[in-house]
Amino acid sequence: MPLRWFKRAEAPDLIDDADWAFAIHGLPLVATLPRAAQDRLRALCEQFLREKTISGARGFQVTATVRATIAAQACLPVLSLGLAGYRDFVEIVVYPAQFKVSRRNTDEAGVVHETEDWLAGEAMEGGPVVLSWEDVAPDRDDTGTNVVVHEFIHKLDMLDGQADGIPPLPQALRDAWENTLDAAYDAFCDQLDAVERAIPRHIDPESEAADAWYRSLVLDPYAATDPGEFFAVSGELFFFAPAALQQAFPAWYALLSRFFRQDPLAAQDAAMHQT
Ligand SMILES: [Zn+2]
Repeated sequence: MPLRWFKRAEAPDLIDDADWAFAIHGLPLVATLPRAAQDRLRALCEQFLREKTISGARGFQVTATVRATIAAQACLPVLSLGLAGYRDFVEIVVYPAQFKVSRRNTDEAGVVHETEDWLAGEAMEGGPVVLSWEDVAPDRDDTGTNVVVHEFIHKLDMLDGQADGIPPLPQALRDAWENTLDAAYDAFCDQLDAVERAIPRHIDPESEAADAWYRSLVLDPYAATDPGEFFAVSGELFFFAPAALQQAFPAWYALLSRFFRQDPLAAQDAAMHQT
């Protein structure tokens, strides 16, 4: 009797095979990792689930499958770093779909502006990570993007305050980081400016008709918002379309690889040569 009770109490932290298969089928990088690294990721996810609370909002039911899926995506960036980078928060809140956030901003003239945005994810400084399940579920078809990886990279960045693109860094990376980030960020902003100039005047740049022009960019234009967003958006690409990022910003890719202590492109190549 005591043994059974013990097992049942432990069970919610363990990920069963079916949930694990579901969790990683939208993560092509995982399939390219050696078996030992895949096992390490799964164990890290179980540790993550022991340390974090995941709760549903607006009636969303957090099942074992949902927990495994969020854990797998959240732990991928810290596979080599461990969970210490996520130590300043415990809570993850999941909405069934995108959620509305109201913000008040005061501009330089002292005028207060209220804006409303629909978000797929948000990482709050010192607070929870909020996610939309519709945007997390692995059967989406938008390759190269991942809102969980995006928000959890913000969390790594926020460990030393604002999400400014500069997380706490080992000494060996500190000097190169700011220069390399700034150079890649500025280059991307220039590329975006060139694309915006190329859009004919009769096409509204905010409309779907303008998408054809923006598609020539390696990153979502949102990456030009500030260096913090550039870090998060390019970090998504690092894990989900590493070849494209390496080709566009080789020095930045190399630095991300040293920071995350992972090389998704090399893993992909090694897996291809094995088959
Ligand atoms: Zn962001």
